[in-house]
Amino acid sequence: MEKTTVTMEKIVNLSKARGIIFAGSDIYGGMGNTWDYGPIGVEIKNNIKRAWWQKFVQQSDNSYGIDAAILMNSKVWEASGHTASFSDPKIDCKECKSRFRADTLIENASKSAINVDSMSHEAMEAYIAAHKIKCPVCGKQNFTSIRTFNLMFETARGVTDEGQNKIYLRPETAQGQFVNFLNVQRTTRAKIPFGIAQIGKAFRNEITPGNFIFRSIEFEQMEHQFFCKEGTDTQYYEEYKEKAYQFLLDLGFHKEHLRFKDHDKLAHYAKSACDIQYLFPMGWNELNGIHNRTTFDLMQHQTYSGKNMFYTDAITNEKYIPYVIEYSIGADRLMLAVLCESYYEEVLEGGDIRTVLKLHPALAAYKVAILPLQKNLADKAKEVYKKLAKEFMVTYDDAGSIGKRYRRQDEIGTPFCVTIDFDSLENNTVTVRDRDSMAQIRLDIDALSAYITKSLILK
Ligand code: ATP
Repeated sequence: MEKTTVTMEKIVNLSKARGIIFAGSDIYGGMGNTWDYGPIGVEIKNNIKRAWWQKFVQQSDNSYGIDAAILMNSKVWEASGHTASFSDPKIDCKECKSRFRADTLIENASKSAINVDSMSHEAMEAYIAAHKIKCPVCGKQNFTSIRTFNLMFETARGVTDEGQNKIYLRPETAQGQFVNFLNVQRTTRAKIPFGIAQIGKAFRNEITPGNFIFRSIEFEQMEHQFFCKEGTDTQYYEEYKEKAYQFLLDLGFHKEHLRFKDHDKLAHYAKSACDIQYLFPMGWNELNGIHNRTTFDLMQHQTYSGKNMFYTDAITNEKYIPYVIEYSIGADRLMLAVLCESYYEEVLEGGDIRTVLKLHPALAAYKVAILPLQKNLADKAKEVYKKLAKEFMVTYDDAGSIGKRYRRQDEIGTPFCVTIDFDSLENNTVTVRDRDSMAQIRLDIDALSAYITKSLILK
């Protein structure tokens, strides 16, 4: 089956209509670029996080999970460099007062023909003037000069107005791993190489958020820091590139929709860095990053905290600060990619179009829908529902024709529909309909659980 052309509009509309994602604070007119996950969305997102955790913690014999505080000592952000330089180049239209990221303005105007990564502010200003780039909102050409804009959200801690200290909502989760490096190492007796994983919220005061949940101001990251000895770092960098890519294939991504992109401009401390990009409806864009961060972060924390961050090899007694290979992916951005990747519209025999989310069953909100053919079969149907609900998220639907009920489940990606009919009362069997092929088989009720469980395993 050919992949349907997916537009962002279709994904947004389906999300809203089917309880996947709603605009944040909707009844108050929204709160720009915040999103609330509905009953279906929260399940899919939790399943995405679970799949990531399974792959990078559960199935790894040398990775450990943590859940660090969002609010951290402000010195963390001085040490990490975020206070001084976690910023984007902002430019304002003097006519309509709209604000833009200068790099994005150039990228869009040049249709990505220009690589802005290595451009200075002066070079960007010169390019905007020379190419007479206009304000995308009002069409005029009258911009301010470019200024840096720190992306961290500030808040204040303290119980009196006078005694308040400026603190930040974390802009990334990774620092939680760095500050806990030795806590984890000591308590698990981990030997290098080993990894620390974390899933949690991060906040960025983005200048130009947008494209639905692609770039928002509050989002979740799934980050894995792998600590290794200098000299082995390149090998692990390559390994994590492969693991990150394989994870996406395991979730069902098509190879043609993924590509690696090396960073053209490296951060001063980075030895190598690349992104995996996905072909989103608006074009190729970063899905995740893999970075060789060298010893930078642990060194910085050692300097700023005054605490020794050296690792001691228990056998050789060698002491050193390890290199770090970082793999970082946004849970929400991955959710958007998963929705786009699994969205299909298929023309059925009678000419009707069915919309179907072909999610990997492990990611689907409900694993199975229980559909009694008639309402007077409710007792048997409820019995099956209760039995399966002990193991999986199950939904129940007795409203409307069976065809309509199938369509509703297709739209939210439920992999199996179980129909209860009069034979079910006689011989304890049900019809199981497969979401993707629409093929139906007859199964004993007692065999359902094993049948569904088998489909949930990720490679
Ligand atoms: P971008 O270039 O898109 O701004 P980045 O290079 O700043 O991303 P990182 O700091 O490496 O991103 O963050 C790691 C991951 O977190 C990204 O690959 C992306 O999946 C996710 N992410 C970053 N910023 C946002 C955001 N504002 N909204 C949603 N997800 C985000």
